[in-house]
Amino acid sequence: MKKEVTKSPKVALCRECHGTGLMRNVYGATVIPCPQCEGSGRVMVSCTMTLDIRPYKEKR
Ligand SMILES: [Zn+2]
Repeated sequence: MKKEVTKSPKVALCRECHGTGLMRNVYGATVIPCPQCEGSGRVMVSCTMTLDIRPYKEKR
């Protein structure tokens, strides 16, 4: 039986920019707002897990 577990959204530190809200471009010359958190440094994270639960019967 498959069971879906949803975790409610929570605020977390943005891992793309490490909470700074800023990212350097590939050349390291220009600082741009982080595209993941749009410069806020924080993101909302939610997740949905699917658990696959089956009966386990020990063989005798
Ligand atoms: Zn960010």
